Formats: sequence, C-alpha cells, structure tokens
Amino acid sequence: MRCQYCEREIKKDEEFYEISEKLYCHNCIKEHEMEYYKIDNNGELVHIDEVVLSYNNKDDYILSLKVRLRIFKEDKEKYENKNNPTPWEESYLRYRIKKLEETKKLLEELQNEKEKVDG
Ligand SMILES: [Zn+2]
Repeated sequence: MRCQYCEREIKKDEEFYEISEKLYCHNCIKEHEMEYYKIDNNGELVHIDEVVLSYNNKDDYILSLKVRLRIFKEDKEKYENKNNPTPWEESYLRYRIKKLEETKKLLEELQNEKEKVDG
C-alpha cells in the first residue's frame, strides 16, 4: 500500500485516506474544520470536492473492501438474472463485473502484502 502522492509506504497501523479509489497518507491530506484538503503539485493546499474516505488502518480498509465486494456480487447476481435487460442494465452489469474483479485482485494483493521496513 503506497501513498499516491508521496509514494511512501503506508504502514499497517497507519491512518490513511481514499479519494476516487486512490490512497493517500495522512501527511498528504490535511483535515481542517471538517473539510478536506490535499497538497497539489505546486505544494499548495487545495480543497477536495470528491468523496474522501478515511481508514484507521489497513485492516479497516480490507474490511471495507470486503463489504464493497459483497455489494458488487449482489448487484451482479441481480442484473445477470434479468430477462430482456435494457442497454443501461447491460452496461451496468459489465461495470459491476469489472469492479468486482478489480476489488478481488486488490484484496488479494493487500492480504498477501508483507510489511516492509521503512528505510
Ligand atoms: Zn503521502
């Protein structure tokens, strides 16, 4: 698990954040009066409009991915069994299958990941 911004390894028990499915360490996200900011390429604090999810640690994140996986699976089953699906439903099903596979892969990677010692 690495921060998308500073590329630092996020430790197992470290708090971190997820924005648009990308992970950021606590140093790169500043929490200020219940609003979220991140440091942009010029080193300036910029406000984030996207949804920010925060996790206490890696296990917390794994748990959340498992919940997501279950929702994707339920959705997939629901839309797979539809008779005469609309084009929207077909594309939604394809999207769900894609997310399901991505989440599965990510979960496996996280669970297999060994803690690296910070040099
Ligand atoms: Zn960082």
